Amino acid sequence: MRTTFDAVIIGAGPAGSTAAILLALAGWSVALVEKQTFPRRKVCGECVSPPTLSLLAALGIEQQLDLRAGPDLRRVALIRGSRNVVADFPEARNSTYPWGRAIGRETLDTVLVEQARTVGVEILQPYSAREVVGGPGAWRCGIRRQAESSITTLSTPVMIAAHGSWEALPLAGPQNRREQRPADLLAFKANFHEAPLEPGLLPIFSFEGGYGGMVDTGGGVTTVAGCLRRDRLEALRREQTGASAGDCFEAMLRTECVGVSEVLDQAFREGSWIGAGPIDPGIRLRADEGLFRIGNAAGEAHPIVGEGISMAVQSAWLLCMELLRARAWQGGPDCDVSWQRIAARRYAREWRHVFLPRMRLAFAFAHACMRARSGALFLALASLWPGLLSEGARWVGKTRCAINPDAVALIGGAMHSQ
Ligand SMILES: Cc1cc2nc3c(=O)[nH]c(=O)nc-3n(C[C@H](O)[C@H](O)[C@H](O)COP(=O)(O)OP(=O)(O)OC[C@H]3O[C@@H](n4cnc5c(N)ncnc54)[C@H](O)[C@@H]3O)c2cc1C
Repeated sequence: MRTTFDAVIIGAGPAGSTAAILLALAGWSVALVEKQTFPRRKVCGECVSPPTLSLLAALGIEQQLDLRAGPDLRRVALIRGSRNVVADFPEARNSTYPWGRAIGRETLDTVLVEQARTVGVEILQPYSAREVVGGPGAWRCGIRRQAESSITTLSTPVMIAAHGSWEALPLAGPQNRREQRPADLLAFKANFHEAPLEPGLLPIFSFEGGYGGMVDTGGGVTTVAGCLRRDRLEALRREQTGASAGDCFEAMLRTECVGVSEVLDQAFREGSWIGAGPIDPGIRLRADEGLFRIGNAAGEAHPIVGEGISMAVQSAWLLCMELLRARAWQGGPDCDVSWQRIAARRYAREWRHVFLPRMRLAFAFAHACMRARSGALFLALASLWPGLLSEGARWVGKTRCAINPDAVALIGGAMHSQ
């Protein structure tokens, strides 16, 4: 096995695979380390915003997106109790895709990894990163293949963390384990068939202690995903002894959100609910850490706004553009890592500029929706002015792309010459 690369990327979610494809297209040798075998189910609402669809298409997966994603998402609904408000999604005028679409993570993540393989990325899967030591210019990453005990060490000047947010990276030094808290948000997802969901509608639901959404992800599948506070879930489980956490979540949805039960009553569930979390919204990115963080490993917004895949893909693009630019300026040997410091500073600044406002809005929206009084107030406001939902979608980045269109055209050109 080859063990020395220009960059090693840990995690093949949308962030890791996007970065791997971009760097490989620029001529770098890249290893992408992923511990799970794909396709795998993933707790996610699976909605992708219009600008992110364009970025994914530029990576060369346009055909698969067109064939396998759900319909254009043209309207959004907010459901609480027995009430709901429907509004138009804003159109992304400067994007190849004017509307968002949803696509199952079983499909999206697999297609991206296969595309990475096609452009020359070394895919190390299922391998888990067990140890990351060193610093810019001289990183070492110990990886272990599933069900084996021997460790292989990869060497690289550039280390990229794209491992999501469910667990910490095995970095040298003390790791803080988070205490369980009543306010922790646990996440759930299940797929349903034959759900009579209005085509192109994305319903978001809010209830005491949580929020969620459902969407047509293509191929006759409707995904239902959401988050619920730990204390609320524990209370529900005490009432329904023996029921799984996911079943309690579904029963609560059916009782408390009429619009959801109307859809689910006519649908049938495929398999059981999957759960994950607690989710950990917040910023983990630091300009001085030495390794580069993208996607949820850099920071996470409350998933009520469905921007996580966008943040993953867009942050990967932002980082790769800065890495390529800084290395071209430097032009010197790789052992001089001042170009990495320049890229880190510029990336961190740009990341905050683009994503911090979205994260703050997502936080405000999530917390308004999870509480009885503010949730009812928000719904009342949206009933009076449905445009609040449309504008909210615009404010959280559904129509804006963080990436310069010239860069996208350049990558598109490189893809076509492959
Ligand atoms: C309930 C819910 C609903 C959501 N709905 C939406 C939505 O509708 N739209 C949207 O855009 N976002 C949504 N999100 C957010 C979205 O799922 C995440 O933001 C997105 O998956 C982040 O992508 P990523 O590439 O950073 O990380 P991930 O997708 O988490 O990928 C990380 C990968 O790293 C691998 N990994 C981890 N540790 C290691 C290791 N040590 N070695 C090797 N591999 C490792 C994991 O196996 C995984 O495959 C939702 C999230 C939740 C919880």
